[in-house]
Amino acid sequence: MKVSIIGSGYVGSVSAACFAELGHEVICIDIDEEKVKQINAGIAPIWEEGLDELLAKYSQKTLIATSDYDYAVENSDASFICVGTPSGEDGSIDLSIVKAASASLGKAIAKKDHYHVVVVKSTVVPETTEKVVLPMVEEYSGKKAGKDFGVVMNPEFLREGKAVYDFMHPDKIVVGAIDERSSFVVSELYRGLDCEVTHTNPRTAEMIKYVNNSLLATKISFANEVGNICKQLGIDTYEVMDAVGTDFRIERQFLNCGAGFGGSCFPKDVKALISKAKEIDYEPQLLNSVVGVNDRQPLKMVEILQKKIGDLKNKRIAILGLAFKNDTDDIRESRSIPVISELLRLEADIAAYDPMAEQSMKELFPEIAYCKSSSEALEEAEGCLIMTEWDEFRNLNKEFDLMENRVVIDGRHLINPKKISTEIDYEGICW
Ligand code: NAD
Repeated sequence: MKVSIIGSGYVGSVSAACFAELGHEVICIDIDEEKVKQINAGIAPIWEEGLDELLAKYSQKTLIATSDYDYAVENSDASFICVGTPSGEDGSIDLSIVKAASASLGKAIAKKDHYHVVVVKSTVVPETTEKVVLPMVEEYSGKKAGKDFGVVMNPEFLREGKAVYDFMHPDKIVVGAIDERSSFVVSELYRGLDCEVTHTNPRTAEMIKYVNNSLLATKISFANEVGNICKQLGIDTYEVMDAVGTDFRIERQFLNCGAGFGGSCFPKDVKALISKAKEIDYEPQLLNSVVGVNDRQPLKMVEILQKKIGDLKNKRIAILGLAFKNDTDDIRESRSIPVISELLRLEADIAAYDPMAEQSMKELFPEIAYCKSSSEALEEAEGCLIMTEWDEFRNLNKEFDLMENRVVIDGRHLINPKKISTEIDYEGICW
């Protein structure tokens, strides 16, 4: 089949490359000319394991990129909207980018004389596909949904860093369509993947995505709450969760306590669901607490540091890890952001290191020092905060010798102080 993908970010570029791998002809549409050029040169616009290889394999063959909506829509059967849905000031989702894409798509559909399917893959709150995207495409195309074009909500569940693998090995594919015809077109695109398709309506598909992410975020905040209590009682919270996680109704994953969750999805999605609940006059107490615990958690690391070394003014503090998690260069909502802001407020000297995310963090905090290795960041430091679970931090050992004062606060349960050959003053956030 022929498919166009609107937006070539994390979701769009991975979906495009993977649809090509599934044998489809793909056209990427992005307003960012640089991304268009990169994709046409077979270069991934973002870092994702396996993405470069797929783009190199299909670029200029069955995968091309353009900024021309008319060309892309005319030459495809379905268009996936994969543009960003950032948080607005009040936590609700900002739909301006989705609206701009819907308008452009509608104008292109106006010029097409055969059926086209509009697919929303961006994460949008329930009712958005039917009450915002569908009417906009009708308005700008002058055509009728369900007759001239189909509408589907098809949420994405990929994990950044493992996105290509997740796309090719999904545990669920949700197709929320307004009718059987459009549902069939989208389901066919996924033919070849070993996964049953859940067929539903658009608003249920939208809700499935939010509930999925909110429940995972809830597990993390729950683990952090329990971890904070365990620490006070001298109980190893990881031992507790290992045992609790053997219960098949609970499952061990996402019960690791630490500095909290970040990324482009969990914080934004939980806040958007809270905002949607409030819009219908429901006060979501549990979801509010999930965010509350998560906001408090990273700052606990700074509190522990202050307890150990006192006033942080002019003290060199090593921050190991800037990405919101390992294996990605994405810093969106990374827990290191509130920590760096707090350290700057306290006038500490920050020496940061991350194997991938330095460039993005520089745009946010140009004033801090960026190092090329953990050793460089640790040199002469009076404290170290471990913020991201990069594998290379697990093996740190002699590098701590370089510190002026070997205080190590671990936000990710990465360091086993018993295995460190030098003596360090180690404390975990919840252990
Ligand atoms: P992103 O910001 O990385 O990428 C969005 C892309 O859209 C950019 O390349 C941008 O240039 C392009 N764009 C903006 N306006 C456009 C327009 N009018 N026409 C064409 N292109 C346009 O976003 P992302 O992380 O890929 O997220 C996209 C959506 O998918 C969001 O709703 C997000 O919540 C959801 N999602 C993200 C992930 C993830 O892991 N990142 C996972 C699941 C779902």
